[in-house]
Amino acid sequence: MSKFWSPFVKDLVPYVPGEQPKLAKLVKLNTNENPYGPSPKALEAMRGELNDNLRLYPDPNSDLLKQAVASYYGVQGNQVFLGNGSDEVLAHIFHGLFQHGAPLLFPDISYSFYPVYCGLYGIPFEAVALDEQFQIRVEDYRRPNGGIIFPNPNAPTGCLLALEAVEQLLQANPDSVVVVDEAYIDFGGQTAISLVDRYPNLLVTQTLSKSRSLAGLRVGLAVGHPDLIEALERIKNSFNSYPLDRMAIVGAAAAFEDQAYFEETCRKVIESREYLVAELTQRGFEVLPSAANFIFARHPQQDAAQVAAHLREQGVIVRHFKQARIAQFLRITIGTPEQNQALLDALSHS
Ligand SMILES: *Cc1c(COP(=O)(O)O)cnc(C)c1O
Repeated sequence: MSKFWSPFVKDLVPYVPGEQPKLAKLVKLNTNENPYGPSPKALEAMRGELNDNLRLYPDPNSDLLKQAVASYYGVQGNQVFLGNGSDEVLAHIFHGLFQHGAPLLFPDISYSFYPVYCGLYGIPFEAVALDEQFQIRVEDYRRPNGGIIFPNPNAPTGCLLALEAVEQLLQANPDSVVVVDEAYIDFGGQTAISLVDRYPNLLVTQTLSKSRSLAGLRVGLAVGHPDLIEALERIKNSFNSYPLDRMAIVGAAAAFEDQAYFEETCRKVIESREYLVAELTQRGFEVLPSAANFIFARHPQQDAAQVAAHLREQGVIVRHFKQARIAQFLRITIGTPEQNQALLDALSHS
């Protein structure tokens, strides 16, 4: 604390990201990064951009990327918003679309950045309990609210809410902005972007950090009605005119154009997930049904924090959340077959 701080800073409770260890050699299954590299075409596009033009500012509207995203999803350019990672897109959403007095609703077990943004922007919220199977119950969102947000598939559970249920939620809340945070949708779900033309209150966010393996580039996006997008553009242009740099614009656009690489790597992750679920189940773990690039698992006889510490001693890091209801679970990112085997070996080794 310092006398120089603005008063609200002392009450902020910042988000705590998963560890990014400085040691190499660790089997890193703790932050849901993609084990496969980015598309070679994305890397090539970025190399081509490494030149004298870096002295110039990038396109403030990132039109090249906006067009690539719009044509990929079959929407118009004015239905797409881009940001420096979907975390930044989410921050602008909270700031611009959720400050209505009534509480924002999101699941009690969900992305831990949501309450952090509520703190940053002074937004009241209510955490809506998932059911006993850790599923979202759409009926529970029929109550006065200033907006609704949830990850789909949910994080850190990995559980998917079917598209029909997303649509029921939209129909029940026509006067609220409903944000579906689809950070993991490409690993087993159907995107709600197909609904944006029918529901002007729907905003879908996605990221290139997970399925497109570009977490280090920081690119995220939102798709929705032009009026919602305009609110986000107003915030963005009052905050940072150039959230996407020259590398990010061309690299992300090229990633969207390399469909074959995208499909191949997603398929490999999904195959490994099914293998890992089977192996862990055989070892006595209970694994929640996952549509993401991670799984959420608990062992009835083994303490989760101890298992995480035991894995760490053997160079495998997974994520453990010290939170009510999920303190006995571990979130394990799907790695390459070799990494997944290292995890299984470390579990067997006592
Ligand atoms: C990873 C993640 C994000 C943020 O991704 P960025 O790297 O900031 O694009 C957003 N929401 C959820 C649920 C995530 O898991």
